[in-house]
Amino acid sequence: MTKVAFIGLGRMGHGMAGRYLDAGFTVKVWNRSKKKADDLIARGALWGNSPMRAAEDVDAVVTMVADDEASREVWLGEQGVLASWKPDRLAIECSTVSYHHARDLGRQLGWRRISYIDCPVTGLPDAAASGKLTLLVGADPADLEKARPFLEPLGTIRHFGAVGTGTVYKLINNLMGAIQIAGLAEGLAIAEQAGLDMNLVLEAIQSGVTASPQVLRHSERMVARNFAGATFTASLRHKDAAYAVKLAESLLADAPLIGRAAVEAYARAKAQMPDDDEGKMIEIVSRPK
Ligand code: NAP
Repeated sequence: MTKVAFIGLGRMGHGMAGRYLDAGFTVKVWNRSKKKADDLIARGALWGNSPMRAAEDVDAVVTMVADDEASREVWLGEQGVLASWKPDRLAIECSTVSYHHARDLGRQLGWRRISYIDCPVTGLPDAAASGKLTLLVGADPADLEKARPFLEPLGTIRHFGAVGTGTVYKLINNLMGAIQIAGLAEGLAIAEQAGLDMNLVLEAIQSGVTASPQVLRHSERMVARNFAGATFTASLRHKDAAYAVKLAESLLADAPLIGRAAVEAYARAKAQMPDDDEGKMIEIVSRPK
């Protein structure tokens, strides 16, 4: 039976790990707080006492943790995966990390002859649990073929090129998302303060030219102030936008203009409500004069 270790059982990782159980893999799991693994263990997953222990004797390790710091900890820390790993295995990083970190991790694993795939994803936790994510892959083509059986249970593969390119796409995607959501919040706040009929505003937005999927997803919830069940937090949105702006600064002389404003807006949201839904941006911008 194919053996995989899954590290990081948050909103996204929990569902993704479950996909491997459903597909009949032998699954070892680790999460910083063990409680989140309990039901997966009841379904047959094996608990590893650390990323290092979880990674012993598996063919591939898949990680889905918060950010660069968490990724560094689970791969390269004292009890990290690399402490027990041998060459010729497969490392799949699904977390959204910075471009610099993705490339650096690829290099560090490459020196140890471990194949590395950078594989951030798009899709919400329900897509993670049902195998309907889009996998934004940066990998050597031979490594991708090796990784395919471990990727297919999670969703649809989009291969952008060498290691790091999946992360580039993910970061521009999420920067554009941050800009759209912050822009929508500001537009709605203006309409509210100007006294417009918000049902009419919603109807017009949803059938108008700015109705991107992000705008469609957030507009009604923002107007209703209905943020039950955060799927993507203010803190994660800030992290992604900040990583994207850093990448932009390394590539473009005069950008990012709008990107920096979105990072600033999400820095405020993160300071006030880090674990709340990103759509609560409307509450940040709608304070009347
Ligand atoms: P989450 O629910 O907050 O889970 C974060 C995970 O990272 C948890 O397992 C957490 O462990 C772990 N973690 C945090 N800091 C750590 C550290 N220093 N050492 C070890 N583990 C650490 O977040 P999520 O929504 O699942 O997101 C996970 C990743 O997917 C992020 O990179 C995010 O940007 C990306 N993503 C999220 C979505 C979404 O809709 N939520 C969509 C696409 C991509 P504990 O459980 O112990 O806190």
